[in-house]
Amino acid sequence: MPATARASTLLLIAATIGQLPTRMNILIVDHSKVFRTVLHKMVANLGHHPISVDSAELAVDVLHKEPVGLVCAALTLPGMNGITLCQQVRSLPQYLKTPYILLTSTDDQRLRHEAFEAGVTEIQERTDAKELTDRLSRFFLDEQEEVHGKVLYIEDSQVAAHIIIKLLLQMNLHVDHFRLADEALAAFEKEDYDLIISDILLEGSISGVGLVNRVRNLTTPKRRVPILALSGVDDPSRRIELFRLGVNDYTTKPPLEEEVRARVRNLIINKQLLDQVEKQSHQLYQMAMKDQLTGLYNRNSLREFAPKYFSNAARYDYPLSLLVIDLDHFKNINDNHGHLAGDNVLAQTGQMLQQACRDGDLAARVGGEEFVVLLNHCEPSDAQRRAQDICKAIEALRPEGVTVTASIGVTARLQGQPVKFEELFKIADHAMYEAKKQGRNRVAFVPCT
Ligand code: GH3
Ligand code: MG
Ligand code: MG
Ligand code: MG
Repeated sequence: MPATARASTLLLIAATIGQLPTRMNILIVDHSKVFRTVLHKMVANLGHHPISVDSAELAVDVLHKEPVGLVCAALTLPGMNGITLCQQVRSLPQYLKTPYILLTSTDDQRLRHEAFEAGVTEIQERTDAKELTDRLSRFFLDEQEEVHGKVLYIEDSQVAAHIIIKLLLQMNLHVDHFRLADEALAAFEKEDYDLIISDILLEGSISGVGLVNRVRNLTTPKRRVPILALSGVDDPSRRIELFRLGVNDYTTKPPLEEEVRARVRNLIINKQLLDQVEKQSHQLYQMAMKDQLTGLYNRNSLREFAPKYFSNAARYDYPLSLLVIDLDHFKNINDNHGHLAGDNVLAQTGQMLQQACRDGDLAARVGGEEFVVLLNHCEPSDAQRRAQDICKAIEALRPEGVTVTASIGVTARLQGQPVKFEELFKIADHAMYEAKKQGRNRVAFVPCT
């Protein structure tokens, strides 16, 4: 191994050991004295207790005498190799689950297979420091990092339930256990769960398969909650059927505790990561599409959504009206009351416009003090009436104790008219300028011809 790679390997192991929660014995088995000495010092510096030996035989002696929390062993050793040592480690009941890292550069698949068969937890490439870093840090973070979450557990066998509930509680998870699927589904409706664990063969009117089906056929986001199925029979066609139904993971009963623990962890972490991504993408969407000051849609989203309104109106041939609203002498408000007061006026006007919208209408802030309201299914006469109402409501609003007025331009797409959003917008904008010319604080209508 090149010197630099070896140094980073050692650093990495050291960093990983540094994350272990309590001081523990770390067994280092390597034939190279230099490697052992450096690693030994690092482990000690990090507050853990290194025990380094140069052969597998000596390692076995140590394991019999002292409790060890992690074994880092080279594959090539004088005498018994790292794989045979692992077999010996696993034959001792107290070391069934102890992490065992095999350090080797071999890509011999047969050897690697043999290593995992023997119970090696991870094989670390001795010469690839980057890969080693990623794998080791993940490995130990997983060991340490606690997951939090709520599990809905459905199991009709008391014996099986006892084991799993104990295990989940040990993981500090909240567990709601039910014997019947319909009771569990009622709870599922009310509560938010991070994972469903369900036995497949259940007494009662709904089986485990039925439960999976009902969850996956919901129309709410809850339908995506991960499901771990437990079954007493390991039948491949049953497994395939369950995966097709939307089960995320599957394991057989009686469950291997470590396996269930790892599966539960992975499922909950993935679910929570996905939730986080969804939340972030929702926030990004809000930032991209909404005007932060007023909460209305912004110019971009108006451009994106408006054409759809127009194509629908053309397709089903219904009327559509457009208002362009511009606050009067807004510059004076800023000049006399300050920019912050001006912002507040804009925010309150935006809220008022949102309230004036019916379902299916769209209000947007398209410029500094300029707004657009798209009135869906709205005849010109109705649009003018609604514009008048808005005009009066703005005058009555008195945000910041100041009388604010607006000039509103109105136009409408009549039935049978093939008009685009941009064309109608130009007409409404022109109508707004007419309202300004006529003295402001008024509505002007310009028909679309
Ligand atoms: P008119 O009646 O002709 O529309 O006059 P006006 O003063 O409203 O129009 P003008 O276009 O001259 O000025 C608009 C002002 O709006 C100028 C600008 O400083 C202000 N403005 C634009 N965006 C914002 C904003 O986000 N916050 C605040 N407080 N003011 C803004
Ligand atoms: Mg059962
Ligand atoms: Mg203005
Ligand atoms: Mg303006």
